[in-house]
Amino acid sequence: MDLDRFKELHTRFFGKELPEEVLASEDYEAYANAIHENETCYNWATAEKLKSKGFDYKGYCCMMMADKVFESLDENGETKYDDPEVIINKWEEDLYGIPVHNGSATMVVINYCPWCGTKLSA
Ligand SMILES: [Zn+2]
Repeated sequence: MDLDRFKELHTRFFGKELPEEVLASEDYEAYANAIHENETCYNWATAEKLKSKGFDYKGYCCMMMADKVFESLDENGETKYDDPEVIINKWEEDLYGIPVHNGSATMVVINYCPWCGTKLSA
């Protein structure tokens, strides 16, 4: 799917309560698949989402990392601890880790982005 077509579908579907028959439609299926399978569409949709939330995604190695860091923060921008949905944390500049969900603030430091392979530590 090209990005223009994707944008058009995004306008129709994103952030709306969609009725069952829309969710079952071919257009919706194509849209949902494009998010998962088409990197250009994923990056664009994720940037739109983060922009709408006021999250500055520009300093990240990739949109996947930006989105996962965004999801690791609460509504005040603070790191959420022991939330099983959180798969990555960013502490300081260049310090990223995988949280260990054992009730404490333990994390495993990672040196490379798990999605795009960029070296994270300076
Ligand atoms: Zn990355």
